[in-house]
Amino acid sequence: MLSNRELFLMNTAQTSSSPRLVEVVKAEGVYLYGPNGEEYMDLVSGFNVSNIGHRHPKVLEAIKTQLDQYLHVTVYGEFVQAPQVLFATELLAELPSNFQSVYLTNSGAEAVEGSMKIAKKYTGRRQIIAAKKAYHGSTQGALSLIGNDEYRQAYAPLLPEIDFITFNDPGDLANITDKTAAVILEAIQGEAGVRVPDIAYMQAVRKRCDETGTLLIFDEIQTGFGRTGKLFAFEHFGIVPDILMLAKGIGGGMPLGAFVAAKEVMDVIKDNPMLGHITTFGGHPVSCAAARASLAVIKSEKLVEQVAYKANLFRKKLSHPAIREIRGLGLMMCLQLDSFEQVYSVSKYCAEQGVMIDWYLHCETALRVAPPLTITEAEIEKACNIIVKGLEKYAKSM
Ligand code: PLP
Repeated sequence: MLSNRELFLMNTAQTSSSPRLVEVVKAEGVYLYGPNGEEYMDLVSGFNVSNIGHRHPKVLEAIKTQLDQYLHVTVYGEFVQAPQVLFATELLAELPSNFQSVYLTNSGAEAVEGSMKIAKKYTGRRQIIAAKKAYHGSTQGALSLIGNDEYRQAYAPLLPEIDFITFNDPGDLANITDKTAAVILEAIQGEAGVRVPDIAYMQAVRKRCDETGTLLIFDEIQTGFGRTGKLFAFEHFGIVPDILMLAKGIGGGMPLGAFVAAKEVMDVIKDNPMLGHITTFGGHPVSCAAARASLAVIKSEKLVEQVAYKANLFRKKLSHPAIREIRGLGLMMCLQLDSFEQVYSVSKYCAEQGVMIDWYLHCETALRVAPPLTITEAEIEKACNIIVKGLEKYAKSM
């Protein structure tokens, strides 16, 4: 009989020729478990999803309650489904008052697609500006915003009238004009290797968008839901975007995304033509029930409040000359090394020692460290000791 690993390689689509091939049979808190008793601390949070850890009991309870009521009943936007309505209401209560309407999706990329559409229709403009080294998802619209020519050219032609500026470079802001429908930026560039922009830059982007009547769209798909030490990363910059895109961490481990805007902006999809943006499964009631529970956990366990302390602990314990720089904000961190060989060997060693770390799509010379916000001090200590041992073994400074 073929093993699950062999069947994975044979029957499921491969996204690279070097998948991690770690088999998981259970996950709990910060841990993943393999079929032969392997135990891994998940320092990647399933790629910024498991902010409250895997299988949080409150999320499981909410899912079970919803399972006893209904699963899918109809397409999004027709019936009144309490988990959707209440999650949207609770989400808006956490946001400034210019956010008045939530559109629930299945994924991050789908939130990006919807946001681009409402920005174009609301402004009547076509040009969208994104940042070099951005990552906003893999569907064709979202991929059009990827600031990396290798990926764009492989799937060309993509959307027209997309232009790029250099992230965190105020000199490029003159490219935003009264022809620009929207500027789409990650609040912190994730896949570029965790690039935190200057406060003054973000404020200048906001000002330029205001001057030109351009909508400012923030992608908080990685940075959202407490990871950076605020519930939303835009709070660090003293500005408020016009459209906010969320996914990953919002579903407590279930698939869910959202884009949030003023009612006047969101309402453009209602008419001319009606049903301008629809989805069958977006805002699935089980996902929304999980999202409500997850938000309640983030608040009741005061997880956001603990982020800065835990992040400092990581920074203190991860002291090694091979780490050229630790970039990041809160528990969205990046350890800059010198080469992909070092990154690969250290992350392989760490996985063998029971700590799962990874790297970034556009920055393969840096280690990705983004643990669940629930990680304890003892777990941080254990994980950092293993990473430092890995660096000692495989990334001795030249
Ligand atoms: N935006 C950012 C910043 C992301 O990191 C991702 C996924 O990694 C996406 C958008 C796309 O989200 P999804 O994979 O849910 O489509």
